[in-house]
Amino acid sequence: MAFINEHYLKLAAGYLFPEIARRVTVFSKEHPELAPEIIRCGIGDVTEPLPTSAVRAMHAATEELATRATFKGYGPGTGYDSVRAAIAQGDFRSRGLDVADDEVFLSDGSKGDCGNILEILGAGNRVAVTDPVYPAYVDANVMFGNTGAALAGGGYDGILYLPCTEANGFLADVPSAGTPAPDVIYLCSPNNPTGTVMDRARATAWVEYARKHRAIIFWDAAYESYNRSDAPKSVYEIPGARECAVEFRSFSKSGGFTGVRCGYTVLPKSVMAYTRAGEPVALHPLWTRRWNTRSNGVSYAVQRGAEALYTPEGQKEVRALVDFYMENARILREGCTRLGWKTWGGEHAPYVWCKVPDGSDSWAFFDRLLRKARVVTTPGAGFGRCGEGYFRISAFNSRANVEEVVRRLGAL
Ligand code: PLP
Repeated sequence: MAFINEHYLKLAAGYLFPEIARRVTVFSKEHPELAPEIIRCGIGDVTEPLPTSAVRAMHAATEELATRATFKGYGPGTGYDSVRAAIAQGDFRSRGLDVADDEVFLSDGSKGDCGNILEILGAGNRVAVTDPVYPAYVDANVMFGNTGAALAGGGYDGILYLPCTEANGFLADVPSAGTPAPDVIYLCSPNNPTGTVMDRARATAWVEYARKHRAIIFWDAAYESYNRSDAPKSVYEIPGARECAVEFRSFSKSGGFTGVRCGYTVLPKSVMAYTRAGEPVALHPLWTRRWNTRSNGVSYAVQRGAEALYTPEGQKEVRALVDFYMENARILREGCTRLGWKTWGGEHAPYVWCKVPDGSDSWAFFDRLLRKARVVTTPGAGFGRCGEGYFRISAFNSRANVEEVVRRLGAL
């Protein structure tokens, strides 16, 4: 008899985006004449073509594979040396941050990394997430057995939810004294869904907190390229972070790689976790071992494409791509503000977080926007209890669609 991982049975019905897709399908079937007018600003998927340097590098890599002399078979499980070096130099050392080439681990995107990393910690860690939160962190921990049952009204038993509200500017504060300390803390900046960026003082407080409690911070910087503020772009800008933080990065939203699939994790050799007997163990060799056992790495052509984003030409193209979505975000944010709606984010992030203007709940407002404006957004409640009463608009769309969204919202 084969047994299942019963933790999967705890997963609350429907991941957020399938539920949105379901509602859009129902509406489209009811009103087929309106279906072509629907504009999707729900899921954060890019719309613009890949940077030319990445396309050229991937073509060239494919040609190499077509010739015996330059053919490549299996590559290193953790990524080609030259690609790890380009990343460590381009994203960290060039900014004065101490990251060694072999502390960079290539992957097929950071969604996987955020969950896969749990494998080297094992089950039983108490996990903290912000509320609202990118749902993949929570679901991965449920699947892994780090939570109890789903709670009525949202969330899971056993997770420490860090409330992010208007009162704290949608930025997580360290738990108050007396709260049992979590072992693992997920922080995301620039944030999905709220678009807010964690300031240096808060990030410093988190690093100090993690070191004091021997906890680990999982710092998700998937939207780092949108952060043009003085706030930290990397957790390693904070003194002491090399002792307690793992950083996740993605090429999805910087290089338009959502379909190509490539990201990476930085795991400094100085990050420790503990055996049940309290012995410190470096995570770096475990993560290396995990990759070499569980994967043969990212496809050669894709790695070459990612590497090309670090050339001077590639850097220019990435900047132009990010500028394009940032301008979309500005148009959306200012459009909502003109309507008198309260907004956050959208300045250093591709998401605008809005307060539901009519006081209805966020799924009801989602339905209203879908039915009256044919605009798909993401209801805040899908990201956690504290997301109720808010919704997220994604800036990943064509300029024409973004302008049309603002027009339709004004005509609601
Ligand atoms: N982390 C956050 C906060 C995200 O919003 C996303 C994607 O939307 C990811 C990670 C996943 O990115 P990737 O495409 O690299 O898997």
